[in-house]
Amino acid sequence: MTPAFAQLADNLENIARQNLYRSRRVTESPQGVNLQLDGRKLLNFCSNDYLGMANHPDVVKAFKTAANQYGVGSGSAHLICGHSFAHHALEEELAAFTGRDRALLFSTGYMANMGVISSLLGRADTVFEDRLNHASLLDGGLLSGARFKRYAHADIDHLGTSLQKAAGNKLIVTDGIFSMDGDFAPLKELSLVAKNHNAWLMVDDAHGLGIIGAHGGGLLEYYGLKQDEVAVLMGTLGKGFGTFGAFVAGSEVLIETLIQKARTYIYTTALPAAIAEATRASLKLVIAENWRRDKLEKLTARFRSGAQQLGLQVMASSSPIQPIVIGDSKRAVEISNGLLNAGFLISAIRPPTVPQGSARLRVTFSAMHEEQQIDQLLDALAKSMTC
Ligand SMILES: *Cc1c(COP(=O)(O)O)cnc(C)c1O
Repeated sequence: MTPAFAQLADNLENIARQNLYRSRRVTESPQGVNLQLDGRKLLNFCSNDYLGMANHPDVVKAFKTAANQYGVGSGSAHLICGHSFAHHALEEELAAFTGRDRALLFSTGYMANMGVISSLLGRADTVFEDRLNHASLLDGGLLSGARFKRYAHADIDHLGTSLQKAAGNKLIVTDGIFSMDGDFAPLKELSLVAKNHNAWLMVDDAHGLGIIGAHGGGLLEYYGLKQDEVAVLMGTLGKGFGTFGAFVAGSEVLIETLIQKARTYIYTTALPAAIAEATRASLKLVIAENWRRDKLEKLTARFRSGAQQLGLQVMASSSPIQPIVIGDSKRAVEISNGLLNAGFLISAIRPPTVPQGSARLRVTFSAMHEEQQIDQLLDALAKSMTC
């Protein structure tokens, strides 16, 4: 081994010693509440397929039909010849769904966040990020070269103080529903602070769209925030919508700026048209089928009251993301493995995804879970946490 690779091998051993080593599991079935993994059937409590759309028959059918019509590959980037009727129609439907002037598809949420922040800001500007923001938002801020200010989680006062001293254009960036904690960002207050300081507000609602709001419009629908209050809305399609990709929604000027400037939009292949058609089918169901949101709410309430009775440390979350904080990474992995042996799939989330000393079991629910399965989970948690 060359010295450089010997060093890498050392680093890997170090990661393992801290119980922070990551490895992949190979699934052998479609996404769903019942997941087959390494030949075993497990009850799945860690997927982001909150609404059960990833394997919905209508969504699968739309995908197949569109593959017959469009083929598989999109052939090029959107700006060359990869932007199909299917992409275009989906963008219009997403704009209507979110109540914004326009929407623009990106191939992934990670790329959308990198592209937006680096298109809006440069070295003379300042970006303000919640300490618990998703990695892609933090990376977008760093890529932009703007001055980078992190504020304490959901701390409006801290943010306000920081804004007073800022130079250049100002962009406040936040998760809508925090991906590892499940709590809601204080968007009303954030939009007021943004207005008072002449700053833009960007919300990444990857975990709210489809799930929260009377019509699934996410946190912005829930709080009734319009385009002039939240200038940039970003959403992903691989979570509540069960497909793949992401979008940014906002004003005409925002979207045209992204088309001209976002390098993660310009220099990458458009996602397959069949994925866009599958997403159109999913979007229709997500809007129409309120029972999915109602069911999630019921399941979440049942879990929280059961967990509190058991004395489990749940967080202040009213979303289907219900983490149980363990603290120690080794212990979190042990409990996750114990649950796996008992037939439950719940991943242990460790630093650096979450802050030091706050390793957790990230429990998530799907509208396809049944109440009885929540009770089974509570039983299994009670057993695995005491041994
Ligand atoms: C998953 C996620 C992303 C990334 O989206 P992908 O489409 O998976 O790349 C961005 N932001 C948040 C908050 C997320 O949870």
